[in-house]
Amino acid sequence: MDKINDKYSRQLLFWPEGKESQIKLRKKVVTIIGIGALGTALANHLVRAGVGEVRLVDRDFVEESNLQRQMLFDEKDALEHLPKAVAAHNKLTAINSLVKIRSYIEDINASNIEDIVEGSHLILDGTDNMMTRYLINDVSVKLNIPWIYGGVVHSRGMTTTIIPNKTPCFRCLFPDVETGHAETCDTVGVLSTVVHVIASYQATEALKLLIEDHSFIREEMIQLDIWKNDFDLFPFQLSFNHDCPCCQKSDFKFLSNVSTNLVSSLCGRNAIQVTPINSKEITFSDFHKKWAKLGSVKQTPYLLRLTYEEYHLSLFKNGRLLVQGTSDITIARRLYSTLVGD
Ligand SMILES: [Zn+2]
Repeated sequence: MDKINDKYSRQLLFWPEGKESQIKLRKKVVTIIGIGALGTALANHLVRAGVGEVRLVDRDFVEESNLQRQMLFDEKDALEHLPKAVAAHNKLTAINSLVKIRSYIEDINASNIEDIVEGSHLILDGTDNMMTRYLINDVSVKLNIPWIYGGVVHSRGMTTTIIPNKTPCFRCLFPDVETGHAETCDTVGVLSTVVHVIASYQATEALKLLIEDHSFIREEMIQLDIWKNDFDLFPFQLSFNHDCPCCQKSDFKFLSNVSTNLVSSLCGRNAIQVTPINSKEITFSDFHKKWAKLGSVKQTPYLLRLTYEEYHLSLFKNGRLLVQGTSDITIARRLYSTLVGD
């Protein structure tokens, strides 16, 4: 207990119930989906604050272009193509060894999200795409787990807290599923400072929920532009949809959409990801031998990378393949079938 007093002394002074609040925090499990810009900032805050268990879910590996804003990674992680969930795990364990950290090198989708978030008290959005947010929203409403949305692009950011049966859900707020080419960090860039403002709002709301201090939970969606100094609040009262298919009618269409998650283009990145319906057990050494005849191969404990024709391919242990260098789904399917097998 002395260690706790010492480690969290500045926080204990702040908490409404002092040590009691800290004990509540220590009993909580939080899942962070997406360990990029927002996700690394969120994980950093929650692990330092002393949440009991933090689960990190990310499908990608660290690249040089991440380092401008993804504050848990460094050049060595990028050089080693370390999966973000692993690189973050390493840093966070060094930051606070009292927190249990579990990492998942997974593409979150309808077939695995329920298992991953099961037992969580809160889900935090560190993703960069709307479809995953609709999926998180479905699982949140279905399993009655609050989640905190956060989105950043350019110098703009948005965040809101979604508590099932209490606030509007994400589909109340954004009823039209966006399928068009919205602006993304990969097409219009992103300023690292706006990431941290939004992540700080998310993490603060998270702490209020986790220590069970509901008196100051925000009842508005925040939208801001840190460069242009704009700040807007949208009150929830205007946003409830009493015909919402998700929170009113329990139609969890994104959660039942298992088969369409197979091939996904990574928005604005000129990359396609192919995920087998049933995960496979890949033995890297077998593929290393086969692939070495086709191009230059690099093996890490977590993935196998091949440069083949004009593409960079990364194969993960569960059979997932990331194809960089194309946005054409047919090409990605062909490469999967040729190089991994059906
Ligand atoms: Zn709703």
